[in-house]
Amino acid sequence: MPNRPRIDLFADNHPQPSPEMRQYICQAEVGDDTKDEDPTIHLLYSICTELLGKEAILYLPTGTMGNEIAFMVHCRPGDEIIMDKIAHAYHFESGAPAALTGASICGLDGKRGVYTAKQVQEAIRPFDRFSPRTRLVHVEQTSMNGGGNCWPLEQMQAVTSVAKENKLATHLDGARLLLATAATNIPASTYAASFDSVMISLDKGIGAPVGAILAGSHEFIEEARRWKQRLGGSMRSPGFMAAACVFALQNNMVRLPGLIEDAKLLAKLMEDVPGIRNFNENTETDINFFEITAPNVTAQGFRDRLLEKYGIKVGVMGPQRVRMVTNLDITKDIIYEAVAATRDVLNELANSSINLMTMTPVN
Ligand SMILES: *Cc1c(COP(=O)(O)O)cnc(C)c1O
Repeated sequence: MPNRPRIDLFADNHPQPSPEMRQYICQAEVGDDTKDEDPTIHLLYSICTELLGKEAILYLPTGTMGNEIAFMVHCRPGDEIIMDKIAHAYHFESGAPAALTGASICGLDGKRGVYTAKQVQEAIRPFDRFSPRTRLVHVEQTSMNGGGNCWPLEQMQAVTSVAKENKLATHLDGARLLLATAATNIPASTYAASFDSVMISLDKGIGAPVGAILAGSHEFIEEARRWKQRLGGSMRSPGFMAAACVFALQNNMVRLPGLIEDAKLLAKLMEDVPGIRNFNENTETDINFFEITAPNVTAQGFRDRLLEKYGIKVGVMGPQRVRMVTNLDITKDIIYEAVAATRDVLNELANSSINLMTMTPVN
């Protein structure tokens, strides 16, 4: 097993559960959720119905299962789903929309994962027997691949209005919806209001070890529950895991603005480091994408050396692009340390590549 990195900037999930969270998990009351008898699952549902303003909630092991179940409830094989061309559900869910729902995807060319109502209008297929049936409009708030940027509320509402006018269903991939709320102060329920279904991750940002939820009408969740059963997602006593989610929602939501502050600090400090530049126009939430510009240094080379020399882990998102994400384990001191380490590693790699090129062989 590879060692756990000393500092993990790879993602906003898997921070270490705090002693208080572990305590809370231990004391959770549990029951058989397959018979709807788990009190901690019900506690989670009551918190989330209020948080998202939806009638019903379903607890799931992962956000991927949430998105894919939503697609299966909303669509039939042969249908088409409109989403941004860089959406998570398109690129990181193992082709599940095609493999499970049998849906094709119409990938819109948005700006950093955010597209317009006009683009949706233009993408809707004519209703005839030759065309796939346009069925669902899918929005990702925040856009992961866009660099954690937020959809402006009005633009999101314009998109869902066009969907409704055309009798299309709407799904919100809100893996990081709570981070959008922390960044904009717009309640999660306001973002969720114009969607038929919403998924939020409980293991991102707020730091539960496992879990996501799907929210919607009673009718939608009844169907979603059937898919959860079919896919083998029904669990006996998931209250222990749900307890961590309850704890995370009750205690860690207030810490999300701190994650965003740290990410912005990281972006600011990196401006003065040679050989790296912010890929995004600005940092809106907890994600930063950086482009490595130092000569002869690749993202992978930088990532490997940073981990080897400093025990700091970052993500590789392209030949020259790295991702650094803040999480509950990150402090301001760690940010300063990561920036100093980046400066040193880029300097070292750039110099060694120059030395290699100018070195004259001895003998
Ligand atoms: C992480 C993520 C998901 C999927 O969540 P998992 O729990 O990892 O399956 C879906 N959408 C977005 C935008 C994500 O970042």
